[in-house]
Order: sequence, then C-alpha cells, then structure tokens
Amino acid sequence: MKRAALSLTALFVTALLAGSAPATGAASSPSVSNAVVIIRGKLGTLAGGHPTLSTSREQYKLSGQSAYLYKTLQDKRLLNQELQLVGTVEPDGGFQVRQIFAIHAGKRYRIEYYCPVCNITYVQPGHCVCCGRETQLKEVPVDSNP
Ligand SMILES: [Zn+2]
Repeated sequence: MKRAALSLTALFVTALLAGSAPATGAASSPSVSNAVVIIRGKLGTLAGGHPTLSTSREQYKLSGQSAYLYKTLQDKRLLNQELQLVGTVEPDGGFQVRQIFAIHAGKRYRIEYYCPVCNITYVQPGHCVCCGRETQLKEVPVDSNP
C-alpha cells in the first residue's frame, strides 16, 4: 500500500514537471514561426469562463499574449461584441491574442478602461487603484475619417 502511494506521488510530480516545461519554453522564446494574422468575429465564452471568438468559419479558444489582454477578453461587457483580433493561431487550434479592437459599423475602436473620478486610464478591467471604484469601459476610435 505504502509503495503504491509513493509511486503515485512520483507520477504526479512528473506530470506537473512535464506540464510546466512547455509553458516555460513558450514564454522565453517568442513564437516567430507563427504568422501574425487578423481574425474578426463575435466574442463568446465557454462554460468554464474561457473566452472564444466565433468567426464565420470557426470558433477559436482565446488566450492572451499578456495578462491584461486575457482579462479584457473575459470582460462580460464585451460579450457578443464584434471584435477584430490580431495574433497567432496556436498548434492546438487556439488563438493567442496580441491586440484587440472592437468593431462598430465597420470601424475599429481601441478598448480602454477609465475612471472619470480620478481621470485615470487603464489597459484592463477592474477597480481604480486610486479611488477603488469600478472602471468604465471606453472605446476609442482608431480609424480616423479622411
Ligand atoms: Zn478612481
């Protein structure tokens, strides 16, 4: 019995190490082999809260190149919003996001978060570090009218 428990522990540790190894490698070496592409679709979410983007052809499971990008993709205020995402298609078919734009009437908007009380702009949703109020979603037009 005791020996079985020990080998189980060893297996578990091995699995943990194996699981963490690829993540570390991916973080230290930029994915130059993956071409940066642009996809457009509707933001959705899986049962576990994982963000997805549904294009006319398929549904991508999204990840963020940075934590703030992933937090923005998890913002419920953006659910069902049409987004243009810049990033790379992962080997597992997921999409790693590098840049997010909201699309309104065919025009691109940069997504920011803003505290009107303190006049501070943030890159991710959450509470204002100054006054503690929840920040507002702010969409700033990128495409200027000629
Ligand atoms: Zn504030």
